[in-house]
Amino acid sequence: MFTTRLPRLSRFYSSVSPSLKTVDGFVGAIGNTPLIRLKRASEETGSEIFGKAEFMNPGGSVKDRAALFVVKEAEEKGELKPGGTVVEGTAGNTGIGLAHVCRSRGYKCVIYMPNTQSQEKIDLLRMLGAEVYPVPAVAFENPENYNHQARRHAEKTTNAVWTNQFDNIANRRAHLETTGPEIWEQTEGLVDGFTCATGTGGTLAGVTRFLKEKNQKVKSFIADPPGSVLYSYFKSGGNLTERSGSSITEGIGQGRVTTNLQQDIELIDDALYISDEKSIEMVFRLLDEEGLYMGASTALNVVAAVEMAKVLGPGKKIVTVLCDGAYRYQSRLFSRKWLESKGLLHAIPEHLQKYIVL
Ligand code: PMP
Repeated sequence: MFTTRLPRLSRFYSSVSPSLKTVDGFVGAIGNTPLIRLKRASEETGSEIFGKAEFMNPGGSVKDRAALFVVKEAEEKGELKPGGTVVEGTAGNTGIGLAHVCRSRGYKCVIYMPNTQSQEKIDLLRMLGAEVYPVPAVAFENPENYNHQARRHAEKTTNAVWTNQFDNIANRRAHLETTGPEIWEQTEGLVDGFTCATGTGGTLAGVTRFLKEKNQKVKSFIADPPGSVLYSYFKSGGNLTERSGSSITEGIGQGRVTTNLQQDIELIDDALYISDEKSIEMVFRLLDEEGLYMGASTALNVVAAVEMAKVLGPGKKIVTVLCDGAYRYQSRLFSRKWLESKGLLHAIPEHLQKYIVL
């Protein structure tokens, strides 16, 4: 007869969340993501570093929130009618969010994306029923840029909308009305700093605006990868330079100040430049130290949060964004050949190279 009692597994859970309730469909499951305290980053800095677990959204990324808000707004304005088509230009994640939202609400989804993006994202979009056009990655000023192609596609299609995530401030509103308030509540109003990289700038602008309206002492730093102009824009006091260089981080980096970012640009306190070497090392450290399988923009954000903690001094609470999982990029990030081709293998410490299995 067994006398030993099995330990209760529930002791591993801090508590059952009072917000654990049923939700209505795919869109009902967007948001209310956990705020994860990152052990090693916190130990290293003497501050508490938190990552907003946006990879836990039902479509797998931070962009589910924006996808929902731009579709809802188009519906409310009467621009999107039953059976209509949503057209968007995207590095992939907004498209994936939109493809889910469109399926769940009966719309067709058409996606234009730069052909530099991972095959995983293209495949997933097609599996979700989206019509996908990978097009040459040319600057925004070029009429063949993926955004302009998306706009033209919508213009010549009946009952279609171009959701225009870069300049449609319904995107920023998603973070002003949901992500920001969640971070405030989860830190019990004690957040000292927020940092993240920008693609459209919706996350940075919306969260920064909300947190600073609550407490103007909260600091906000923009984190920027190589090939983006925003770091030098901030450091030079507002000069836009030619874009040069490139980055392995997908979904972030900008050649201009988008309308979403413009809304709140005066609220950003400082900028951090994060190299690809640091980002790729953090991809593997997050996996090894925290068990988190994250994409490169997330890794960049965590590096930025650690740097921000060093600037603000110990004893602070710093929040960043865990944008999406590495599943979307694994054929690249976990491939020795690919890492070598980008000259980044050397940036991964010896003891972490065991994870490079492709
Ligand atoms: N990380 C990833 C992986 C993304 O796809 C995006 C959006 N393109 C971002 C970060 C940046 O988010 P935002 O558009 O709100 O600036």
